[in-house]
Amino acid sequence: MKKLAFVFVLFVAALSALSAQLPVNLYGRAASGPNGVVAAAKPEASQVGIDILKKGGNAVDAAVATGFALGVLEPNASGVGGGGFMIIKMKDMTEPVVIDFREMAPSKSTPTMYLGADGKVVPNSTIEGGLAVGVPGEVKGLLYALEHYGSGKLSRADIIQPAIQWALTGVPVTVNLASIIKDNYGKLVKYENGAQIYLKDGLPYEVGDVIYNPDLAKTLAKIVKEGADAVYKGEIAEAIVKEIQKRGGILTLEDLANYEVKIRKPVEGSYRGYKVYSVPPASSGGTHLIEILNILENFDVKKLGFQTAQSAHLWSEILKLTFADRSKYMADTEFVKVPLAGLTSKEYAKEQAARIDLNKPLAPVTAGDPWKYESGSTTHFSVMDKEGNMVAVTKTINYFFGSGVTIPGWGFIMNDEMDDFVATPGSVNSVEPGKRPLSSMSPTLVLDPQGRSFMTIGSPGATRIFPTVAQVISNVIDFGFPIQEAILAPRVWQGASGALNIEGRYPASALDGIKKLGHDVTIRGDWDAYFGGVHAVVYDYDKGVLYGGADPRRDGQAAAF
Ligand code: GLU
Repeated sequence: MKKLAFVFVLFVAALSALSAQLPVNLYGRAASGPNGVVAAAKPEASQVGIDILKKGGNAVDAAVATGFALGVLEPNASGVGGGGFMIIKMKDMTEPVVIDFREMAPSKSTPTMYLGADGKVVPNSTIEGGLAVGVPGEVKGLLYALEHYGSGKLSRADIIQPAIQWALTGVPVTVNLASIIKDNYGKLVKYENGAQIYLKDGLPYEVGDVIYNPDLAKTLAKIVKEGADAVYKGEIAEAIVKEIQKRGGILTLEDLANYEVKIRKPVEGSYRGYKVYSVPPASSGGTHLIEILNILENFDVKKLGFQTAQSAHLWSEILKLTFADRSKYMADTEFVKVPLAGLTSKEYAKEQAARIDLNKPLAPVTAGDPWKYESGSTTHFSVMDKEGNMVAVTKTINYFFGSGVTIPGWGFIMNDEMDDFVATPGSVNSVEPGKRPLSSMSPTLVLDPQGRSFMTIGSPGATRIFPTVAQVISNVIDFGFPIQEAILAPRVWQGASGALNIEGRYPASALDGIKKLGHDVTIRGDWDAYFGGVHAVVYDYDKGVLYGGADPRRDGQAAAF
């Protein structure tokens, strides 16, 4: 008996020694490998990217294939009717390039287009129906990347076929997708073309069902054949214009034909010796990410501790200052002069840091926050390969299921990106024809102090996007967390005024202290999609391994080989 107990003790000891060596993969979202990693909001989409790498494609080929697949697999978040931003750094490039495929205001837009006869914004007009729709950029953006930065070894068919396949074999309805459909039932049921696809006989799909979309497969097959013209000219363009105008919109065939991708220089900054590149306007995200990190650098973050009352206080103060700048200065730089160099300068950050009292909250730094922050769709994915080629893409149709307007016969949903403008005249971000609505999307690349490709990262989540990206970067650089743990850690968010939002799992020990410091606190869900969904890849050069981290706040899952 004694002998048996001894053997058992030995067995348990051996097991625990073994498990100590196993990489931790809480919630099963992470993946690692020496050759390449794709981290996206759907496991099937990450796998599409890995299969492309295995076929000899490069990181851009993988990203574009993943991007098209996400439009099918996560139809609530992005797709043919949407737009976004991509940042690419191939190993032979000295500086990354940004592809801005953000939507544009239609040529017939005006600053007063959302006002009713009473001079007030017509409720819902910026978020539902035809008038909410901006000129989409996704197909032109993804194909621009493929044509200019792809390996050239794989055809458009190789890249898009997996997305077509998923549209035909059906999208698995996960717990996450089922609850998004339920939450948006009111919108889906109103638009019969979308309801036919995203509802099951007029009712929400259940977990375990699959959603088929042969019409979308047809659209994608046409893109394979004709390239971007398939959507921006000809019968699909005509169908888009007809449906949007029927739903009260103003989009024209010329708007579609004239849509242009913009190639931009990234905004750049540094954080404790790491170089940070991100996207410039029409997104505010990259600029404010750098502003936040610059201010943060003035504090001994480690000494304040991980997720203590003091650290939450510091984040709250930095975010208040940053959001005050955002509402005053930020808009499409082709229409408005924005002090980009100032906002990203270390000296300005010092001045801002000096305004922060570590013992007392700043009074609200503006009278009110004009930004609505309850949207919450969008998707981010990251790709890195063993050469250190990096791609980060954030793309969206804005709100879950966008404007609700689905193009009959072609199976895709149009965005409601016009809601990212200020719906009244007089703001830097008021509507103007051809202007791009201000985004928060922040696909970001980080180089290590030796100048090597280190991290690709980004998130959905409207105005939580760049604060979330900043927190995950700090978790990795300041606290040394592996990327998956850095993503799992609870987050905080604060606007220029209003309560400090704290994710439910934040240490209870810190909460009393946060309140004592004088903060109003809103406690949100334990795993709250409000705080985004980060998908990132980090290169560990000592081990020669790429680590992908993905977010359980979405259906995130990395894949590797
Ligand atoms: N449309 C938002 C933006 O561009 C993103 C929406 C979201 O992530 O919820 O900033």
